[in-house]
Amino acid sequence: TEELLRRSCKLSVAGQLAAGIAHEIRNPLTALKGFTQFMYEGGPHKYQYLKIMMSELTRIEQIINELLILAKPQAVTYRKRQTEPLLRDVISFLRSQANLNEVQMIMHIQSNLPAVHCEENQLKQVFINLLKNGIEAMPHGGIVQIYAQKTFNGMLSIVFQDQGFGIPAEELSRLGEPFFTTKEKGSGLGLMISYKILGEHGGSLRFNSEPGRGTIATIILPAAND
Ligand code: ADP
Ligand code: MG
Repeated sequence: TEELLRRSCKLSVAGQLAAGIAHEIRNPLTALKGFTQFMYEGGPHKYQYLKIMMSELTRIEQIINELLILAKPQAVTYRKRQTEPLLRDVISFLRSQANLNEVQMIMHIQSNLPAVHCEENQLKQVFINLLKNGIEAMPHGGIVQIYAQKTFNGMLSIVFQDQGFGIPAEELSRLGEPFFTTKEKGSGLGLMISYKILGEHGGSLRFNSEPGRGTIATIILPAAND
């Protein structure tokens, strides 16, 4: 079956996010508090406890780091940019992770791509999030194809196509929900951030996936007017 999903800026409900954050941070904090109290009261200072505490701290740190991307206080500056160099930067940034996973990344870039009006670091963040998901969906290797094209109505389309395990229909509607993850070490924030950034750029993100065969993530961005 083929499932289609289209949304632009998904998250505008601060309450949903706040509840998610509170929940995600409370769990590791509860564990940390428990171990700290236990040792404070004279319990044994076991190496094993410290190891758990370290990993809980790392988890909190990871959540905070990803949230900071969302909350960046400085004014963002939009500029007219070509996306090809941004895509190239992102691909070289993820090269070693892809190699480790035996994943090959292949770019197909049409000539005469429209430029977009964008904050380039934010767009790169979106490309990284989508490419990483593609790589992580192929633990036994494979190919991620990246297509950049001009659409029939003059917009920019960037497609990331992987050969990974795909997304079941019932999970498609949850993509972009804060903290929705199926990964043991996932944050479940990558897609939420991506939807938000693309929404702010007047763009959209749509998923098309067939479980067992792979996933296609399609970004559409309006062309910059001069
Ligand atoms: P994370 O990667 O930390 O889990 P994301 O927001 O990036 O968080 O993705 C949320 C979930 O969406 C993933 O855990 C996974 O279940 C699913 N997903 C996203 N992209 C893909 C993909 N290319 N292939 C398979 N599943 C995906
Ligand atoms: Mg991710």
